[in-house]
Amino acid sequence: MLDNLGASLKDAVKKLAGRTVIDRAAVDELVRDLQRALLSADVNVKLVMQLSQAIKQRALDEEPPKGMGAREHVLRIVYQELVHLMGTPGTVTLEPQTILMAGLQGSGKTTTTAKLARFYQRKGLRVGVICADTFRPGAYDQLKTLCDRISIPCYGDPYETDALKIVREGLPRFRKVYEVIIIDTQGRHALEDHLIEEIININEISHADHRWLVIDAALGQQASEQARRFHEAIGIDGVLVTKMDGTAKGGGALSAVAETQSGIAFIGSGETSEDLERFNPDGFISRLLGMGDLKALVERVEEAISAEDVDVNAMLKGKFTLRDMYGQLETVNRMGPLKQVMSMLPLGGMQIPDDVYDITSTKMARYKVIMDSMTPSELDDPSIIGSSRIQRIARGAGVPPEDVRELIKYYKTMQRALKGMRGMGGKFNMQRMMKKFGRTP
Ligand code: GDP
Ligand code: MG
Repeated sequence: MLDNLGASLKDAVKKLAGRTVIDRAAVDELVRDLQRALLSADVNVKLVMQLSQAIKQRALDEEPPKGMGAREHVLRIVYQELVHLMGTPGTVTLEPQTILMAGLQGSGKTTTTAKLARFYQRKGLRVGVICADTFRPGAYDQLKTLCDRISIPCYGDPYETDALKIVREGLPRFRKVYEVIIIDTQGRHALEDHLIEEIININEISHADHRWLVIDAALGQQASEQARRFHEAIGIDGVLVTKMDGTAKGGGALSAVAETQSGIAFIGSGETSEDLERFNPDGFISRLLGMGDLKALVERVEEAISAEDVDVNAMLKGKFTLRDMYGQLETVNRMGPLKQVMSMLPLGGMQIPDDVYDITSTKMARYKVIMDSMTPSELDDPSIIGSSRIQRIARGAGVPPEDVRELIKYYKTMQRALKGMRGMGGKFNMQRMMKKFGRTP
C-alpha cells in the first residue's frame, strides 16, 4: 500500500539521517524531497505548501526539546506534520448502532459493507446487513454472496424497486435481533440530485447513528469534492477510503478527505472481507516513514519485559561485545521474533541482512555453551580469537570448531548491522525516540 510514497519518504528521511550537520540547507533539501514525494502521490499543492512551510519554520525556529539532537528534532517535526496532514481519524465505537453507507457506484460500498460487517463480527457483535440498493442489477445477490461467506445475515429483495420500503420493513426486524446494522445503498456514476435525495430520505427514516462515505483512493485529491457534497447532504461522520492497494494516489485521497474534516475511519486495501483496517494516522505515517510502529513496540516491550532488563538502546551503543550480543539476543527473544521486533524499530528504512534474523533458541543455547568456554578477555574482545583459540573453545564446549566459527561469524554480521544503524541514525537514541514518537503529538 502506497509503496512509492513510502519509498520516497523513507529516502528523504534517510538522507537527512545521513547528514553530518542539520542546517538550513539540510532542511531545505528535506522539504524539497518531501514535496516531490507528496505531489507525486497527488497530494494537493496547497496542502503540500502548508506542510513545507510548517516544517521549515518549526525546524528553524523551535528549540529542540532538552536532550534531543537536531536530527531527531527535525524528524519528529516531519512526522508530526505528516500525521497532522492525515487529520483526526473518524470515531469507531463498539456499541449497538446503525450505519448508513454512502458513495458513488463503483467506489466499493458493497464490498466495504461486508468488510465492516466482518470487522464488527470479529469484535463479538451481532451484525446484520440491509441491501437498499435497488438500482444496480444484481446488487442484492452481490451483497448476499459476500455476506454468506462470512455468515452474516443479509436483508433485501431483488424484485423490489423502492429502497425506502426495504429499509422501512427490514430495519425494525433486524433491530430486534442484531446490534450493528449496516445499510448498503445505491450509487450512480456521478453525483445526481436523485441519488442525493434518496440518501437523505434513507437517512431520515433509518435514524442512522453514522453516515459513512466510501471513497475510491484512485480519485486522489478529487476525493475532497465528493466528500464535501455528501457531507452537505447528510452530514458524513466518517470516511472509508477503499482500493488503497491499487493506486499511487492514496496519499492525495487521504489528505483531501482529511481536509474536509470528515475523519477517515477505515482504509480498504483488497477485495476480500478481511482487507480492512482501522485508520490510525500515527501508525500509518510511522509505517510510511519506515519508523515502524513505535507504539506497538513500546507496548510490546512493556508487556514482555520488566523495566530493568530493557535496553534495546545498548544494541546501538558504541561497544558491542559477545557478552552484549548474548544479553541482547536474550532480551529480544523475549519480545518476540527478532525480525518482527526489528521491523518496528526506527531504522529510517535501513535494511538488516537476513542472516541476522536467522537465530533460533536451539542455536542460542548452543552459543551459550560455547561462550561458557571462552575466557573473559575473549568475551570482551572477540577479535583476539584466532584458530588456536577456536580449537581450545570447541574442545571445552564439546562442539566441532565450525560451530565456534559460526558463532563468531554471527557476531560479526550483527556488529556490522549495528554499525550501519549507528552510521545511519547518527545520534539516534532509540529509547528517547520511542518515548517521543510513541506518544501522540
Ligand atoms: P459499489 O458499487 O460502491 O457497491 O462498489 P463494489 O463494492 O461493487 O466494488 C466495485 C469494485 O471494486 C469491485 O470489483 C470490488 O471488488 C472492488 N473493490 C472494492 N474495494 C476494493 C479494495 O479495497 N481493493 C481492491 N483492489 N478492489 C476493491
Ligand atoms: Mg454496491
